[in-house]
Amino acid sequence: MAVVATYRGRFAPSPSGPLHFGSLVAAVGSYLDARAHGGEWLLRMEDLDTPRNVPGAADGILATLEAYGFEWDGPVLWQSTRFAAYAAALERLIAAGLAYGCACSRKEIADSGSHPAVDGGLAYPGSCRNGLSAGRTARAWRLRVNDDEISFIDRLQGSVVQHLESDVGDFVLRRADGLFAYQLAVAVDDEFQAISDVVRGADLLASTPRQIWLQRCLGYATPRYAHLPVASNAAGEKLSKQTLAPALEAGQAGATLVRALDFLGQRVPAQLTTAPPAEVWAWALAHWSFAAIPRRPSIPLAILP
Ligand code: GLU
Repeated sequence: MAVVATYRGRFAPSPSGPLHFGSLVAAVGSYLDARAHGGEWLLRMEDLDTPRNVPGAADGILATLEAYGFEWDGPVLWQSTRFAAYAAALERLIAAGLAYGCACSRKEIADSGSHPAVDGGLAYPGSCRNGLSAGRTARAWRLRVNDDEISFIDRLQGSVVQHLESDVGDFVLRRADGLFAYQLAVAVDDEFQAISDVVRGADLLASTPRQIWLQRCLGYATPRYAHLPVASNAAGEKLSKQTLAPALEAGQAGATLVRALDFLGQRVPAQLTTAPPAEVWAWALAHWSFAAIPRRPSIPLAILP
């Protein structure tokens, strides 16, 4: 494969629990795609949603990645240190008339006849977009969207098209509790880290048009995207902390890496199942085939890891 000198990929776990098989798949896919392009692979700890951070989880994730033999480039970027950057981006959007204060409570949005959004939430009907009515104060900050088509070609999932106004509505950049929203932070940090390629789980496919819109509003470059299939349980739910996916065990790193590679369509020789991580990586780096990754948004695991 041709070496792209400017390839910069990243893995961006949230420390809301330990690393599990689903997040390992995203780590393995983004890592091998970066290395196959002769690129860099950066690590970003998305410890922004402080109420959801679990004490010790961030250090646990780093320790697990190390035990599994991942080698990242440069220091870890901690979102908890990036408050000023997110605030500056929001200020720019407000100054440009693109972001506005919103007084609506969740209940008011639900009662306003709003329809479901692409991500399962409620599309914001725009109640505050022309200013707050008298006596109301802003709780959250939202980004103005329009109904133009936002589309991109995902390297795995193909063409993705959204019309943000009908599909999500003006979306939150800073929440009523003062925290910056994931969408803003990820756009700011992908630009800050000069990420050329985002490789992550397809559970984030529906978020990507919002991130592209933010990139356009802020004058950022848009990376290439590849959304990997996500592992789901027998009920079709994504493996996550919420569905109680078990934490990865450091002692079985080689075998678990083989399972992650297998999940990503790689034909790993059977004898590597009992090999240490270094041997599995040596094979994976030499044989990684992006073309072999299943082009599906989710794959059920017959047996939970
Ligand atoms: N922090 C997000 C997660 O753990 C991933 C964000 C991203 O890759 O853009 O699901």
